Amino acid sequence: MKPILNLIWRSLIFVVWTISLCFLPPKVFANNTVVLLYHKFGDNRTPSTNVSLDAFKAQMLYLKTHHYQVIPLKRLIMALEKKQMLPPKAVVITIDDGYKSVYINAFPILKEFGYPFTVFLPTEAIEKHFPDYLSWKEVKQMQKAGVDFQDHSYAHHRLGFVPEGMTESVYRNWIRKDLKKSRFIFKSRLGYEPDYLAFPYGYYNKILIEEALKLGYKALLTQDPGVVSEDTSLSLIPREPILGKEWATMKHFIQILHRVDLPLFQHKPEIGFLKQNPPPEISGILKYPQRYLPGSFGIYVSEWGWQKAQFDQKTGKVFIRNLPVLKRKVNRIAITGIERRSGKPAVNFWMVILP
Ligand SMILES: [Zn+2]
Repeated sequence: MKPILNLIWRSLIFVVWTISLCFLPPKVFANNTVVLLYHKFGDNRTPSTNVSLDAFKAQMLYLKTHHYQVIPLKRLIMALEKKQMLPPKAVVITIDDGYKSVYINAFPILKEFGYPFTVFLPTEAIEKHFPDYLSWKEVKQMQKAGVDFQDHSYAHHRLGFVPEGMTESVYRNWIRKDLKKSRFIFKSRLGYEPDYLAFPYGYYNKILIEEALKLGYKALLTQDPGVVSEDTSLSLIPREPILGKEWATMKHFIQILHRVDLPLFQHKPEIGFLKQNPPPEISGILKYPQRYLPGSFGIYVSEWGWQKAQFDQKTGKVFIRNLPVLKRKVNRIAITGIERRSGKPAVNFWMVILP
């Protein structure tokens, strides 16, 4: 074929392919699993990480009366690994830190509802009998009743930050040492090595992700708000924190159940350590640009709040430019839009850290 004909033919195929992508029906598994994250239950001493028992019961009842299906975390991870279908209104319950109030207050309520749940343990606190934390006896009793226990590191350090003066190789060793210790304690106390790790304080970067995956964790969980869809990476599973004055309310609870995922091809700045400050732009390239109302996009940055974002139809890029210097050590960034079909807010959060 002459080169010019070849070029026309290729362009034609590309155009047809692009158009067909726009009209494909959305996948069913998409946008539908919210992973809830709790810490303390009915413990008024630390209101910022607590949910009252009345609010918690009301939330569990809401799931039941609105026909949500609470599924084990394992089932969600397997669905992501094997691209399996999940029930349309699936929810996962996770609890971080293994405080006593899990055993005393949450366990009886969750048992009554028959909901499965996963507790992420900082193993040093359990091993050294820190006051206010679960004992191994309580852990084993709950395990017998079907509760899943997974890893929240050994010492609950901010593993996502490089401690002052550490080189990269020392930092990597420091991460490995902490996580290996925790895996060893799991093995000796509960008889298995944990499959999932919830990042302490929800802080993460690419080095921590790499080291955790090398140690054998199959899924890593953040504390970034968001919804799990088939586009979610197994190493960045978002969870919706339910705590404190505003985020433990019924209003917020219902809001987060009605969000959908907003899958991106690319985040700018990339997740983890910020390479340029101010960043030249904050942007994401939408995986499914046709899913959203074109004028509906916004960008959120923790230290600046929400702002309206620009949208380039041709590239599917949502962006803001001309930015000031970022000052906070950690910023969560989000791109949001409104899903055309459902009218629901779509969100994608990620984290950047000042090096
Ligand atoms: Zn924690």
